[in-house]
Amino acid sequence: MYTKVYNKKYIRKNLNMPFRGKNTYENCYKWHRQNNGTCFYCYEDKPVAYAFVGKKGICQECLDHFKIGHVGTDRHVITYLTNQCHSHEETLKWLKKHDLKLTPNGQKNGTHYYFGINNMGIFNNYCAIIYGLTDIDTVNNATKEKIMDSYNEIEIFKNGGIRIIY
Ligand SMILES: [Zn+2]
Repeated sequence: MYTKVYNKKYIRKNLNMPFRGKNTYENCYKWHRQNNGTCFYCYEDKPVAYAFVGKKGICQECLDHFKIGHVGTDRHVITYLTNQCHSHEETLKWLKKHDLKLTPNGQKNGTHYYFGINNMGIFNNYCAIIYGLTDIDTVNNATKEKIMDSYNEIEIFKNGGIRIIY
């Protein structure tokens, strides 16, 4: 019951804003070549608040409503917005607050490694393959692609810096 009410509210709220979260991998360089707005998130021709492909990027309104949908697709905006975070803990808190589901994947010399999860269902279903317990060649190529797209590896440094591998 609670979930239903929450979802309705969420949808209504979303109708009022142009920001459209990314649920799948989208190539921003390909988008840049198309005539599909100056903002990667609402596809409108608007002044850009932060440019990350040539003169195109994200508008102020979308930046204000930004939520992580696909960590690989969103990597430029995430890197830009986490510039204000100055420790591993701050960056981690920021990512969680902006809707990213993460799971730790070890640490070394002060760098923390994570899996940023784009699709929880697929990630959970194939975690044996993702963690290297089962050979990836046990699945077909289409499934391989789905598995690879269900997460991105993330490194968070002591100073809060982030690297998203895609
Ligand atoms: Zn926008």
